[in-house]
Amino acid sequence: MSATTVWISPGAASFSCLCEVCLEAARTSGALFFDAMQSASVRGTVATGAEATIVRCRAGHEIILRRSSRPPALDRPDGRQLQLA
Ligand SMILES: [Zn+2]
Repeated sequence: MSATTVWISPGAASFSCLCEVCLEAARTSGALFFDAMQSASVRGTVATGAEATIVRCRAGHEIILRRSSRPPALDRPDGRQLQLA
């Protein structure tokens, strides 16, 4: 079990993402897709000057927010959910 890493843009002051550990747990337990998305959803604000911030999902899993100087989709095409606010 490893921490989820989420890349955020240099100017982002808030984030919204999915905890991969929760998603995986919901998937293996056979939860409905909608319920899985709901329980894995994590959102909040992040200090604009912070290079990296560690947040926790509702279940307590660590999620590492890292600032990227490039659009994350260009060099990390791994399908991770990322919504920039
Ligand atoms: Zn989680």
